[in-house]
Amino acid sequence: MQQTDLVFIGNEWVRPIQEGGRHLVVNPATEEVIGSVPSCSAGDVERAVRAARGAFPAWSALPAQERGALLQKVARGMKARAEAFTRLITAEVGMPLGQCGKMQVAGPLYAWAQYARLAAEFEFEARVGHSLVVREPVGVVAAITPWNYPLHQVTCKVAPALAAGCTVVLKPAETAPLSALLLAEVIEEAGLPAGVFNLVTGDGPTVGEALARHPQVDMVSFTGSTAAGRRVAQLCAASVKKVALELGGKSAAVVLDDADFAAAAKGVVASCFQNAGQTCSAHTRMLVPASAYEQIKPLVAAAVAGHAVGDPMEEGTRLGPLANKRQLERVRACIDAGIASGAELIAGGSQAPAGIARGYFVAPTVFGKVDPASALAREEIFGPVLSILCYRDEAHAVELANDSDYGLAGGVWSGDVERALRVARRMRTGQVDINGAPFNIQAPFGGYKQSGIGRENGVYGMEEFLQHKAIQMPLPPKAA
Ligand code: NAD
Repeated sequence: MQQTDLVFIGNEWVRPIQEGGRHLVVNPATEEVIGSVPSCSAGDVERAVRAARGAFPAWSALPAQERGALLQKVARGMKARAEAFTRLITAEVGMPLGQCGKMQVAGPLYAWAQYARLAAEFEFEARVGHSLVVREPVGVVAAITPWNYPLHQVTCKVAPALAAGCTVVLKPAETAPLSALLLAEVIEEAGLPAGVFNLVTGDGPTVGEALARHPQVDMVSFTGSTAAGRRVAQLCAASVKKVALELGGKSAAVVLDDADFAAAAKGVVASCFQNAGQTCSAHTRMLVPASAYEQIKPLVAAAVAGHAVGDPMEEGTRLGPLANKRQLERVRACIDAGIASGAELIAGGSQAPAGIARGYFVAPTVFGKVDPASALAREEIFGPVLSILCYRDEAHAVELANDSDYGLAGGVWSGDVERALRVARRMRTGQVDINGAPFNIQAPFGGYKQSGIGRENGVYGMEEFLQHKAIQMPLPPKAA
């Protein structure tokens, strides 16, 4: 049981101003309470923002190489605790241990080291004609993050913001805050100056909104649901704060008629069910040629059968539970609504998977012949639920792929990479993977349309926390 009464402000572990409620952290595989954190108030936000504001002048003025050297220490501290991070995240989120180590810990580790390097190498100044164009840190950044990839999402914001010279107040998700608290310990050990990084725990409407409203916060970087992102953007508008939003998705994998159908079925199912479907960029719509539907259906069913559901701490488990009870209830309701809509149920259903008596588990579920106008095709479910839609021809496939309020990710499968690339170029989405090509942490990640504003990862993620200043230098005197 990991219980803390403290939050991290100005390099000190302090009690919240008001002793109030707590957020319980529940292991979704066992339903046991494994930790709790304090529910902070607007007063704690005030203290944290003041600490970040106070630290900003010195931190932003520090040579970028020195900031980089401190970030490198954070990366080393994380590496030393990689196993602890992995076990903690599997316990609070439910992602199987092996996958968790690779996706939830190795990625962030790499990212901290990458931003340490980038801080040292980045060209913060350039000449344009007679102007000196300077890239300066935005200021105090509030980072608000969700629970599905807790360390990754915190890292995507905090590491580049610090590298850019910003100071940070982090509010992690209230249902999975433990890895963020461990990161705060690592940052403390690395010896960053007081106030550069601060962490407050609590819920969105109280702590998140207090951050978004705060006049001394210069930018909010938010990852979470589109509804909460919209609210954050509205609050930021009042003081014209910069806002970066990474929101939901309903990404389409377009399987062209010349694709290797077996490989596509395996790849799309793996993308859709990763982290029990709780991945914003999951390919949750599979678009297949109507003429090949009957051929593809059993291939998808076979791929689903390869997803062993069970204890995420056990080797061999491919699909863990959903992260919390609210998710379980929501996902089950979406599956029931899908069945009622008349879509063909190919695998799964809303009942608990066979042989599982406790935990927030849902059977991996696939619907076929999904109506493009139905909720199954349009709404983000955030669970292991795949919808197969049929298209007539390539133009119709692109039309269906783009027929979404979202635009975060997508895929194209084809035997002809040039053809796949032509289709990828026509998709209105921030990422497209051809034939299951893997995630690249140096490439920009972010959404078109209602999937968000701004980009994370690599140098693009760091540029988000910089603003341009143009200094016009005096022109040389004209020759007489
Ligand atoms: P959520 O929006 O409920 O919560 C995310 C964070 O925002 C939490 O820290 C929460 O406390 C805070 N929050 C909630 N309401 C707030 C408010 N009114 N003001 C300020 N902060 C508020 O989302 P969730 O259920 O935790 O996460 C799931 C959602 O996140 C999904 O929709 C998913 O697609 C999205 N997501 C997007 C990305 C991406 O990079 N695009 C990554 C992961 C998750």
